[in-house]
Amino acid sequence: MRDLTDDLRWLAINSATIKSWPLDQQIEGCARAGITGIAPWRNGLADLGVSRARELLRAHQMTVTCLCRGGMFTAADAAGRKAAIDDNRRAVDEAAEIGARCLVLVAGGLPAGSKDIAGAREQIRDGIAAMLPQARAANMPLAIEPLHPMTAADRCLINTLDQALDLCDELGAGTGVVVDVYHVWWDPELPAAIDRARGRILTYHVCDWLVPTTDLVEDRGMMGDGVIDLRGIRAMVEEAGYAGHCDVEIFSARNWWKRDPAEVLQVAIERYRKFV
Ligand code: ZN
Repeated sequence: MRDLTDDLRWLAINSATIKSWPLDQQIEGCARAGITGIAPWRNGLADLGVSRARELLRAHQMTVTCLCRGGMFTAADAAGRKAAIDDNRRAVDEAAEIGARCLVLVAGGLPAGSKDIAGAREQIRDGIAAMLPQARAANMPLAIEPLHPMTAADRCLINTLDQALDLCDELGAGTGVVVDVYHVWWDPELPAAIDRARGRILTYHVCDWLVPTTDLVEDRGMMGDGVIDLRGIRAMVEEAGYAGHCDVEIFSARNWWKRDPAEVLQVAIERYRKFV
């Protein structure tokens, strides 16, 4: 496993972590802090403008670890599913334009009023299949992100790494996975699944699981403040061939979002050295 204690090159910051700054300030703030990787979100990209974002990212020699996010393929009717696929095709173009390493996909939950989990999962597979030719043509890998099962109803029906890998097996070239420790740390099959993901881990997200957790989405912890064996998971991910960035992604309405993003970056650097 890489020793990252004195090696900041593999630290990236997800826009969500410092979201009170607009994207241009995020890029400049990361650069000032000596951070060389960033994972923008599409809303920030839209606000700044894709071509302006590309200029700034290049000017600061920032690695774009991923673009967050596409997906949300499930819908109650065909028009809704088509609109989602169209939007995902735009996301591929945006990711390519800013030189992102991959486009993250969060699959989508149950359509409104539906209890048909199997049907929704078919919609997810069909949605990814529909956008895949364009992603392949743009040379933009699609990174399927399994989310913790607590999100199954309303956000994501791909809930384990194995499920994501089953989709990759079915869909083939141009697909891979995100390993986000927050979503997979609890999974008894994780070691085997990470091994199975060899060569297909496109990006790696870190934060921590707080005890107690008080919100299903916006109560993630800073690395070191929770119960996730971060070093243990990174060892497995690297053993499976991953050699990229550790992308700090923290949704935290009650703590980190209330702080000065410059301070959050400094704490993230300290914790990266100590715990990631
Ligand atoms: Zn993530």
